[in-house]
Amino acid sequence: MIIGVLAVQGSFEEHAQVLKGLVEEVRLVRAVKDLHGLQGLVIPGGESTTIGRFLDSGLRGGISDGLPLFGTCAGLIVLAKGIAGGAKEGQPLLKRMDIEVERNAYGRQRESFEDEVRLTWDERPFRGVFIRAPRIVSHGPDVDVLGVQGDEPVLVRQGVNLACTFHPELVDDERLHRYFIEEVVKDDE
Ligand code: GLN
Repeated sequence: MIIGVLAVQGSFEEHAQVLKGLVEEVRLVRAVKDLHGLQGLVIPGGESTTIGRFLDSGLRGGISDGLPLFGTCAGLIVLAKGIAGGAKEGQPLLKRMDIEVERNAYGRQRESFEDEVRLTWDERPFRGVFIRAPRIVSHGPDVDVLGVQGDEPVLVRQGVNLACTFHPELVDDERLHRYFIEEVVKDDE
């Protein structure tokens, strides 16, 4: 299995490191040619406007609707259908998930924090590292909530798309990457 990690900015090396323990090949993706033969693509955190613009400058057309995507933090924003209050001009979104998100939703006081995320498929909680994290303010009926922090949905799935508002690549716990590979990508084969 070959899984790609969009390598524009942010913690793509950390994602690649986690994935290396789980799949045969991990490929850093920067150009359309890098998409060839991929079974899944991770869109890491960073700055969603920058990532969106980068996708729009070429890669976007090469990402088929059926390619499983895993968006984390800024990556989740890029997958969203809309941004609360309206997307700023020049903020391209892939619009693959029926979620509306608020960027930097926790304000200055709690810009970055860690908290327990409860998962639907595993009793052991996941340590969520939230860094200038977005919040999912609403989601449609086709979206499954797979993880919550308190009452907030923070890990969601819609078909071949998986997304979380925190940074699973920064903790020593591969369960979300494993879920993406075993439940989302393999399901799709
Ligand atoms: N605040 C960033 C944005 O809105 C996301 C932060 C992150 O990915 N850690 O794009």
